[in-house]
Amino acid sequence: MSEEILPDIFRVEIPLPKNPLKAVNSYFIKNKNRNLIIDTGMKHQLCIDAMDNAIKKHNIDLNKTDFFITHLHADHMGLVKYLSTKSSIIYFNKPDENILKNDHFFDRMAEFAYISGFDRESIKQAFKDHPGTKYSPKTYPDFKIIEEDYVISIGNYNLRCVETPGHTNGHTCLFESEKKLIFSGDHILGSITPNISLWSLDENPLNDYFKSLEKIKKLNIELVLPGHRQVFKDCNKRINQLLDHHEKRLDEVLTIIKQGEKTPFETAQSMSWDLSYKSWDLFPVMQKWFATSEAFAHLKHLEYLKKIKRTIRNSTIFYYF
Ligand SMILES: [Zn+2]
Repeated sequence: MSEEILPDIFRVEIPLPKNPLKAVNSYFIKNKNRNLIIDTGMKHQLCIDAMDNAIKKHNIDLNKTDFFITHLHADHMGLVKYLSTKSSIIYFNKPDENILKNDHFFDRMAEFAYISGFDRESIKQAFKDHPGTKYSPKTYPDFKIIEEDYVISIGNYNLRCVETPGHTNGHTCLFESEKKLIFSGDHILGSITPNISLWSLDENPLNDYFKSLEKIKKLNIELVLPGHRQVFKDCNKRINQLLDHHEKRLDEVLTIIKQGEKTPFETAQSMSWDLSYKSWDLFPVMQKWFATSEAFAHLKHLEYLKKIKRTIRNSTIFYYF
């Protein structure tokens, strides 16, 4: 499926296998000199076939194509190695590159899951199912590292990089001020709430996310081109809904901790989740993993606001009121 959003800008839906997100958006911006592809899909045959077809249909010459990757997740960058050619520039950000190049990243994540209250057996299982280990290439091509305000120009479009940490540390959007549009990656989605997860005690991604939402609010945006689902208009209304959602989540987590000390895992277990499983025990381990890191992000922010406290016993973290 693809649609022309504005002259020479196409939204191409790349299906995702067995994934509640269903599909990721890849955007093709065509120009006679060089094309730009924003985000790519995972390294999975279903994505490869969809991408091959779209490239053919839109007559894209990969020898004249550059890439911009909004963030490190496999559904966004998994095919960049497959698609890029010798002449391709691949625009990417430094914080996410650091994670990709950290050989110990998954070990650290496993350790972090353990202190969050997971048992070792579940962690092992989660790694087998994790899209980052399953659908990412093993090595990456060289990136052109971009920062705030770097401008990529293609034809009539001047796309300015806007750093929006939160969903990942280095998440970056592309803003076109004249056309008043933003390629928002997974920072702002229309009908899905982007997942905000904690992977290290040194960070507060939820606070980063709030700041990044406020930052986008100040831009004059008429059209949002998100990483998943349909494009949409009222950007600031959606931002307010997302802020509201997390405020409610913070309240929920605070109420849970007020009832008694809990690990991040136990906190997630007590939270309500918009998933089709009847009970927490029926969640696949990967969903428990995402839920726990999401709960942890909220716990961390409440700790930062000095509303709850943290302690550690037997290598496990507990939060209390
Ligand atoms: Zn993502």
